[in-house]
Amino acid sequence: MLHTPPPRRPLKVLLATPRGFCAGVDRAIQIVERAIEKYGAPVYVRHEIVHNRHVVDRLRRLGAVFVEELDECPADRPVVFSAHGVPKSVPAEARERRMLYLDATCPLVSKVHVEAQRHHDAGREILLIGHAGHPEVVGTMGQLPEGAVTLIETAADARAYVPRDPANVAFVTQTTLSVDDTAGIVAALRERFPQIAAPHKEDICYATTNRQEAVKVVAAQADVLLVLGSANSSNSVRLVEVGKRAGVKGAYLIDDAEGLDLAWLDGAQSVGVTAGASAPEVLVQGLIDRLAEAFEVTVEDVDTVRETVSFKLPRALTA
Ligand code: SF4
Repeated sequence: MLHTPPPRRPLKVLLATPRGFCAGVDRAIQIVERAIEKYGAPVYVRHEIVHNRHVVDRLRRLGAVFVEELDECPADRPVVFSAHGVPKSVPAEARERRMLYLDATCPLVSKVHVEAQRHHDAGREILLIGHAGHPEVVGTMGQLPEGAVTLIETAADARAYVPRDPANVAFVTQTTLSVDDTAGIVAALRERFPQIAAPHKEDICYATTNRQEAVKVVAAQADVLLVLGSANSSNSVRLVEVGKRAGVKGAYLIDDAEGLDLAWLDGAQSVGVTAGASAPEVLVQGLIDRLAEAFEVTVEDVDTVRETVSFKLPRALTA
């Protein structure tokens, strides 16, 4: 007797746009690829070039060698610094060892470095709003002498901070923070230090802001939210938090389709899907394919902002 499988349950997939790669991640990956093409393998990369396992594994297969510190790299091979930026001591050491280095620091992170330097030159105490231990925070603090920058992680830190001169304080931020959490910390600082010097324009970058806005719109219409990204990717973790606050029943961070647990979708009629700024689009397609095996899927694009930002590659790779 012919056995017909039971019909699959319908599931609406709401695809957040923009999602996935930002201009800084795209540039950083191209720098490693072009460096391997130009100089041959191996090309050393200090720290994960961007925080995504799939990206790192693919570049490793092409000939990149990932290390944590510069002293793990031989002096006669090129080295790339990651998109998160590095303390000033790192390029200084590379120059001293006469190494060929390529800096993949995102220009929007470099902009924060310049701001911090400007405040320091003006004699201000600098507060960096960010997460302890994140490479971007390590890089930004490392632009200036020890003690010149104080890390502020929470509104409670902002309230507890004791400045030398309350009239001479400035703040900068990590680029991949939660827009809403940061607004609370900044409000606490402004309340205490009305004259605090602030960034001319937001330090939280366009890609972080746009992805969080898109997730809010999607999460308002979806039962469950799936975020593609790695656990050490700050902007991906923030997307999960933003989704939870926007009211979805569950929000989950997964590296790829294999991380999906179908039980999360029990009773769900719609699922929002997005990807952190370091997660490749191929992972989104893989997730939709996996959902389509289990459900009668319809995909709807939820378009919020169109992004047109792109960054130039270093001259050494284009000449
Ligand atoms: Fe640059 Fe923002 Fe992308 Fe980070 S998330 S690499 S700061 S564009």
